[in-house]
Amino acid sequence: MVCKQKGRGVSTLYIVATPIGNLDDLSPRAVKVLAGVDLVVAEDTRHSGRLLQHLGLHKAMLALHDYNERQRLDAVLARLAEGQSVALISDAGTPLISDPGYLLVSEARKQGFRVSPIPGCCALIAALSAAGLATDRFSFHGFLPTKRKARQAALEALRQDISTLVFYEAPHRILETADALIEVFGASRDVVFARELTKAFESFYTGTAEAVRAQLADDPYAEKGEYVVMVAGAPRDTEVGTPAVDADRLLALLLPELPVKKAARIVADATGLGRNELYQRALALKQG
Ligand code: SAM
Repeated sequence: MVCKQKGRGVSTLYIVATPIGNLDDLSPRAVKVLAGVDLVVAEDTRHSGRLLQHLGLHKAMLALHDYNERQRLDAVLARLAEGQSVALISDAGTPLISDPGYLLVSEARKQGFRVSPIPGCCALIAALSAAGLATDRFSFHGFLPTKRKARQAALEALRQDISTLVFYEAPHRILETADALIEVFGASRDVVFARELTKAFESFYTGTAEAVRAQLADDPYAEKGEYVVMVAGAPRDTEVGTPAVDADRLLALLLPELPVKKAARIVADATGLGRNELYQRALALKQG
């Protein structure tokens, strides 16, 4: 359906991006829109209240979280129906990107209201723009599952993906995540971990998964701050699943000489295949 963005009356739901660290990144247009709306819908009204205060704005606010989005929908849609304008903001960055707002935006559109983005910061785009990884194809996967098995499965499903993979990650899981990347994508896959973007301690950890794991382990501040994790896509010539080196043949040569785990690790490094998968293949070969 083509939406002509006329909407009912003049009421508009603005989706306003806010800074991810540096307040100077808020655009003049965003400030103008926030100043002009009747209601600001925010994830954490105390947190966003401080941003509005910093701008010298006193606005009616309504809290909208993932857990109460459905209940709050009617209140926000009623304001739009009365001809009021509403701005949706999140704690940081672009609303709806690993943040609440999807139900509100889809329902507002269904009901014919005008929905308009006020673009600005988004951690994943900022990270990608400076990472030095290919950006012609990328895919964003939000936060990885926190349970080990589910996380490994989520990563396994992406192992042959040729697009640059982008994740958000919590700092206390950053070393575990680096280990999981080595296990699934191999120690030699290029990765970039972007930390504290736009803030005083902004840092980029770049190199192979193994090198980045070592940089993180050496940095006493690594488990603090906010992270975007990026993984280079699978080499395009392995897209059809045929690595240049025959993994089974290499395993068969190494297994009589080495423990299964070590053989799997060496073959993972040589082929770019995942350690986990090779470990299972090595066990099967040994038993068969
Ligand atoms: N809506 C936001 C956006 O547009 O990027 C993302 C919200 S999500 C709840 C928060 C996650 O984004 C953090 O846990 C971190 O992974 C990432 N993030 C946010 N700000 C960041 C920053 N300054 N540096 C690195 N990562 C950041």
